[in-house]
Amino acid sequence: MKLEGKRIILMGPPGGGKGTQARVLQEMFGIVQLSTGDMLRAAVKAGTPVGLQAKAIMEAGALVPDAVMVGVIKSRIAEPDCANGFILDGFPRTIPQAEALEAMLEEMQMGLDAVIEVRVPDEMIVARITGRYACAKCGAGYHDTFQKPKVEGVCDVCGSTEFIRRKDDTADTVATRLQAYHQQTAPLLPYYAERGLLKTIDGAAAIEDVTRQLVEAVAG
Ligand code: AMP
Repeated sequence: MKLEGKRIILMGPPGGGKGTQARVLQEMFGIVQLSTGDMLRAAVKAGTPVGLQAKAIMEAGALVPDAVMVGVIKSRIAEPDCANGFILDGFPRTIPQAEALEAMLEEMQMGLDAVIEVRVPDEMIVARITGRYACAKCGAGYHDTFQKPKVEGVCDVCGSTEFIRRKDDTADTVATRLQAYHQQTAPLLPYYAERGLLKTIDGAAAIEDVTRQLVEAVAG
């Protein structure tokens, strides 16, 4: 198939669909999703030192310090499953993180295949973020309006009836998270364009259509 073994970065605003698309690609091509947000949420739940440091920052919608994030991704990317390719979802989010990633991959004699910007206008983000929730058991993502389970209250994927909403998915934190994206993460777009890696797709489209654009952008 088309994307096996690829190393991809998904960029885009919070609530723009990076996580949804990364999960679809993982399912279709067996390339592992590396979501630093998921890793941090797991660390918070487990009460690890990283989790204790990140908790309040995440709830406020700000960015966790670069040194912490680089440490988190460095140990994950060295695990054997990443040898079959990976999709970075939520990392890097700053120029220092991108520079650290570049050095890390160079050391491992790996390169990136593509950086895909999933572009979604700010006006759509609030509605997308405030309505979303996930299966508490398998993590499948849903939305009050845009992606309901086939049977109300039952996860399509694993049948669980327990769902969770993220603590930071509130109208209050969306503005802070969008600001962090525009100020600290958007400078990565020219950074990767200069390296000939950047492609932009329309993230405002329907989920399947975004996936089709994404596969074409990486494979093409
Ligand atoms: P996400 O699930 O990607 O929306 O991430 C949720 C929150 O985790 C963000 O709002 C940040 O507080 C934190 N976070 C995740 N990834 C990073 C990163 N690469 N750098 C800094 N903070 C991050």
